[in-house]
Amino acid sequence: MRILFYPGSFDPVTFGHLDVILRARRLADQLIIGVGKHHEKRARFSVEERIDMLQEVLAEAAAAGGWIKIISFDNLAVEAARQHGATALLRGLRDTADFTYEVQMAAMNADIGGEAREPIETIFLAARPQYRHIAAKFVRQIAAMGGDVSAFVPAAVAARLAK
Ligand code: ADP
Repeated sequence: MRILFYPGSFDPVTFGHLDVILRARRLADQLIIGVGKHHEKRARFSVEERIDMLQEVLAEAAAAGGWIKIISFDNLAVEAARQHGATALLRGLRDTADFTYEVQMAAMNADIGGEAREPIETIFLAARPQYRHIAAKFVRQIAAMGGDVSAFVPAAVAARLAK
C-alpha cells in the first residue's frame, strides 16, 4: 500500500491545498494529511479547528472517500511520515520561492537519518494556474481586514474566518 504524507499548517485549508489533496488520489492508496502543531502561538486557528475544517470540506469533496486520514504532528515531518508508514512526503509548488525552499528541504529530509535508513522522498505537485496565487497567509490577512475570501477558501472556511 502506497501511503503519502502531506504536511502543512493548513491555517486555514484553501482551494490550493484541496486541489493538491484531490490530485494525489491517483498517486497513493492512502493520503495522510499532517497538520503541524509548530508555531501554534502565531496561528489563526487551533490545530483542532484546522482539522475540523479539513474534515468538513473533504467530506463535501465527492472524490475524497475513505482514503484520507487527518492527523496532527509536532515532530519532524519525515519522522511523522515514517511513524504512519508513508514512503514519501507530498508538497505543492506555487512559484520560484516555493521551489527554492522546498527543493532544499526535500534534500535535507531525504538525508535525515543518514544512510542507515531508506530516504523519505518528496513528491511535488505543481499548483494549477487557477490556484497558484492562493496562500493561507494572505487569506488570513484579507479576512482580518473584513475582505471577501470566497474565491480562495470553501464557504465553510470563509464562514469561520468571518466569525
Ligand atoms: P501556506 O503556504 O499557504 O501557508 P501550508 O504551510 O499549509 O500553506 O502549505 C502546505 C503545503 O501546501 C506546501 O507544500 C505548500 O506549498 C502547499 N500549498 C499551499 N498553497 C498552495 C496552492 N495554492 N497550490 C498548491 N500548493 C499549495
